[in-house]
Order: sequence, then C-alpha cells, then structure tokens
Amino acid sequence: MVRAIVGANWGDEGKGKITDLLATSSDVIIRFQGGANAGHTIINEYGKLSLHLMPSGICSPNTVNIIGNGVALDINKFVDELNSIKEKGVPDPQVMVSERAQIVMPYHVLFDEYEEERLGDKKFGSTKSGIAPFYSDKYAKIGFQVCELYDDEYLKEKIKNVCEVKNLILEHIYNKPLIDTDELFNTLVEYRELIRPYVADTTTYVRQAIKDGKKVLLEGQLGSLRDPDAGIYPMTTSSSTLAGYGTVGAGIPPYEINEIIAVTKSYSSCVGTGAFVSEIFGEEAHQMRENGGDAGEYGATTGRPRRMGWFDCVATRYGCACQGATQAVLTALDCLSYLDEIKVCVGYEIDGEVTRDFPVTPKLEKAKPVLKTFKGWKTDIRGIREFDKLPVETQEYIKFIEKEIEVPIKMVTNGPKREEIILR
Ligand code: GDP
Ligand code: MG
Repeated sequence: MVRAIVGANWGDEGKGKITDLLATSSDVIIRFQGGANAGHTIINEYGKLSLHLMPSGICSPNTVNIIGNGVALDINKFVDELNSIKEKGVPDPQVMVSERAQIVMPYHVLFDEYEEERLGDKKFGSTKSGIAPFYSDKYAKIGFQVCELYDDEYLKEKIKNVCEVKNLILEHIYNKPLIDTDELFNTLVEYRELIRPYVADTTTYVRQAIKDGKKVLLEGQLGSLRDPDAGIYPMTTSSSTLAGYGTVGAGIPPYEINEIIAVTKSYSSCVGTGAFVSEIFGEEAHQMRENGGDAGEYGATTGRPRRMGWFDCVATRYGCACQGATQAVLTALDCLSYLDEIKVCVGYEIDGEVTRDFPVTPKLEKAKPVLKTFKGWKTDIRGIREFDKLPVETQEYIKFIEKEIEVPIKMVTNGPKREEIILR
C-alpha cells in the first residue's frame, strides 16, 4: 500500500506533522524530490525537530527512511541533520540513500549565490542551497550520482571534464575563484566515506517492500504551485513536487499509489517572490504571521518572514487537482481564532473578468482576489478532538472550503502537536 503526502499550495502547509503522524503506521518513508532547501517542523516526544533532508519517519523506530533517487543529496547537511537527530535522543534512526541519488556539489551552492548576485533585483529569492544548479546539471548530464563516488579513476576523469566548463563560467561570467580539481576530488572522497553506511539499491528495496505488503509513504516537499510544470513557473522549484513524480523519484510503479493526501493550510503563506493573489500586507499580515504556525510563520530553513494571505480556493482546487488528491487535510485552524472576520479568496479577477480557474503565470500576475467574508469563531479551539464539538463558524469554514476545493477534507488540525488533529 502506497500513500503520498504532498502540498496543495506553495509549501509549508503543515505536511511535516501529518507525515510524522502517518509515519507511525508506515513501514517505509521516502523523500522523492527536492533537497535540504525547505523544511518540516515536527513536534513529538523528542521535542521540536526541524527536518530538511530526512524523511519524517526518522523518529519512528520501526520505519525505514529512504532518500530516493529524485532527491538533491547534500551530504554535509545529511550528516549534520542525522547527528542532531541522534543528539535529541532518537534511538538508532534507520536511513537508506539511493545509489542513484545525485550529490549537491560544493560549487552548486556557490553558483546559486553567484547567479542571484548577478541577477540583482531580478533574483528569484533562492534559498542558495544549490538546488537550481544541481538539477540543471542533472538534466545536462554533468551531475554526480552517489554510485560514481566509488571509482577513483572514473571520478577523477569526470571531475576534470565537468570542471573545465564550470571554470570557464566562473572565470568569464562570474569573475569568481576557479574550482581546484584536486581539492574537489578530496572532498568527494570524504563525502563517499560519510555516506557509505547508508548507500543502497533503494529502488529494488522499495519494489520488494510493496510486494511484501509493506506500507509505504511518499513524502513531498513544497507544493503543487512550486512544480516546474504545473506551478507558477519560473517562480517554482527545480524538481517536481507532484505525487506522480513519486513514481520516478522513488521508483514506485505508478499504479501502486493508492492514496494521495494533499495538505493545505487554513490561510496562505508563501516564501520568496512570485504572484500571490490572496496576499495581505502591513499590520494585517503581521498579525496573521505572529499567530501562524507553531512560533509564527517564519521559514524553517531560512528564518525569513513568510508572506501571508487568505485561504485561496482557486489555487488550492487547482493544487489538489494537479496532485490527483484523493483527500485533503486542512491544517492550523487554531491560528485563525484571533480574527473577527475571516476572508477566503473564491475567484480571480483578470482584466475585468472573474474566473475560478487557476491561470498561467502572465495572467496570474494581473489577478486580483475576489473575497468572501466569514464570521470568525473568536474562541480557542485547541484541545477539541471531534468535529461536532468545533464552533459552528469553524465547521462552516471547513465545509465551505471542502466544497470549493472539490476534495473531501478528512483531517483538520488545530494545534502543532501530533495529537492535535480531528479526523472526520
Ligand atoms: P511543511 O513544510 O508543509 O512541513 O510545513 P512546516 O512545518 O514548514 O510549517 C508548518 C508550521 O505550522 C510548523 O511550524 C508546524 O509546527 C505548524 N503547524 C502544523 N500544524 C499546525 C496546527 O494545526 N496549528 C498550529 N498552530 N501550527 C501548526
Ligand atoms: Mg516547510
């Protein structure tokens, strides 16, 4: 049985907590795309953990955690994160890394910085984790797979060839120091020893696990609107954020995915640049940011204040459809309890016409939100465990969103802790 947990929006929908919760009933958890450029916050018996690269099952003793071939593997960050998890007291975390996963090279991080510097005020707002240069190289066929680290001659030759072009760019476009190929070789030799205990043929492992009837969980990073094909290109990430890509990035037969759980938050937040139609500003945004998430809406990786907005039905219905969501989770309802009135974006006005269909980027830039106002519930809803016990205003808010997004909302969350969840 394969389930996927994915984001319906721009990321930070609260997937980490849901994954952490479902991890307890999963045998294998797989990251299939992205890298250490986004983060999950999970809160459990070990305290608060900020995960960037590790699958969220890392705290469950009976779960095998896999970094799939579709992931951008930053080996230093992998080791640091694993150590910090162990320091929190998590006993013996089980992790496997695909031998086909590619490695984030030290120069990917530098190229990410240099390119943002070159772009100046046209920059993308990259987290500078090297993700875009990494995936560019992967598809340009000059990336390094983990398995390639274990042959000295092969590795030296490849470094020589790849650095030839990298150094031309460094010299003539960015005017930056060149890559020393001997130093790079030594770094990669260090990397291969650090990662050696975890490297495996994960694809064969996963296929067998499915045949054996194991419960597999695919863990998506970011959300639909950051997908390079379906999302708000070019303000997207560089790997597919869709559940469908789980079949490629983890090596799962497409027909084996049974459930696709799209996570969406009761309000919107977004990091970085790009059109964000239901955005709010100033004091209104500040209040929502401070009331949001577990400790305010600030990036788990960068600490950057997130941009804030009302729940966006247009974007979320589209986001769920792109995922092929079989159910949705609506998170962080408790964060709206301070509001007298809650608004929801139900349409986009573009050139004087109102649409419910999520548009392509050039049109999206021109869209203005059509808002519907709901009465707030103005009471603390944390601690409630049954849908019927929620204030009637909260119930109406959930039911309205469910109708708009056209996917059943089977879970809602009303607090950051694992048990703060209401099943429907
Ligand atoms: P992800 O990137 O989708 O995994 O989401 P993040 O973990 O980056 O961001 C979600 C934030 O919301 C984290 O700080 C979570 O602890 C927090 N969170 C998740 N669910 C709830 C909830 O129901 N209520 C509150 N108050 N915070 C939540
Ligand atoms: Mg996040």
